[in-house]
Amino acid sequence: MSAPNKSYDPVEVEALKPEEIERMRDEALAAFAAAADLDQLREAKVAHSGDRSPLALANREIGALPPHAKADAGKRVGQARGAVNKAFAARRAELEAERDARVLVEEAVDVTLPYDRTPAGARHPLTTLSERIEDIFVAMGYAVAEGPEVETEWFNFDALNIGPDHPARGEHDTFFVQGDEADGADSGIVLRTHTSPVQIRSLIDREPPVYVICPGRVYRTDELDATHTPVFHQVELLAVDEGLTMADLKGTLDHMVQALFGEGMKTRLRPNFFPFTEPSAEMDMVCYVCRGESVGNPDKPCRTCSSEGWIELGGCGMVNPKVLTACGVDPTKYSGFAFGFGIERMLMFRHNVEDMRDMVEGDVRFTRPFGMEI
Ligand SMILES: [Zn+2]
Repeated sequence: MSAPNKSYDPVEVEALKPEEIERMRDEALAAFAAAADLDQLREAKVAHSGDRSPLALANREIGALPPHAKADAGKRVGQARGAVNKAFAARRAELEAERDARVLVEEAVDVTLPYDRTPAGARHPLTTLSERIEDIFVAMGYAVAEGPEVETEWFNFDALNIGPDHPARGEHDTFFVQGDEADGADSGIVLRTHTSPVQIRSLIDREPPVYVICPGRVYRTDELDATHTPVFHQVELLAVDEGLTMADLKGTLDHMVQALFGEGMKTRLRPNFFPFTEPSAEMDMVCYVCRGESVGNPDKPCRTCSSEGWIELGGCGMVNPKVLTACGVDPTKYSGFAFGFGIERMLMFRHNVEDMRDMVEGDVRFTRPFGMEI
């Protein structure tokens, strides 16, 4: 048995010869330099400085060397690997800079090009104003109620204390729906002339207490002109509960005009007559432009209120007990208040719209300045 071989074995450490280490290093540097992009550079890195690269394998051989040879070989391999890593980092920085420069050119956006996106439209101001009013009341616990636009005469008139011979019935310029010949062409069906039938439907469908806000489209046989349109919009409100009084109505109106027109706004009531409310009143709000300062002050005229200091909003009152009875509600137990007004009219004075035809013609040049208020 021969003695263990402790001498330097030139075959086993072929990979650690100085010229061999240099060759591996130079091949790595050449491969990095030749990489045309970051993908190729990544492949070259795996091949020349990865775990299975010649330099990494050579590094593992160091452990097999006799102690006196380890330091030299370790230094040579370490220097070579250092040079390779440095060259890789330098080449990667170069290629990344090239890529960034290329992306800037290739993905540049020409901001002067005309764009072809469909221009954003705008919601109709009647819709946004109506929804804004609804929101004020929904926040107070009211429900939004809707009903049919084609309505029976009973809901549109009779239930509201406007009997067949009532003069108010004739004052509503009503569209009648033609019936069959057999009915004598009298169908008893109309296009609703106000949103009040929704109040009747709400009272019949719901048990008191009832708090509803009824926005909707209504119809009158008016010609379209600057101040009239045969189709327009109303918002009506109905509250029926125990112990409601005119004071509740007044407080509710004041809250509404303050929410719509700002702090300090107030309303006033003027006696009037409506068949469905008793007592009834016209409601005015203080002019939100001049706040009444134009009254008797010719130096500061106000176009919005014609220097009267007040703007007429609509009608209101305590629900007529006959209406409650018609809806099956006991008027000795419950009372209620109601009010209603036209959205078009409010839009006109709130936004200085002078011609009602602008609201119905559907021209986006009219609606767009109102924006996308939601
Ligand atoms: Zn005014």
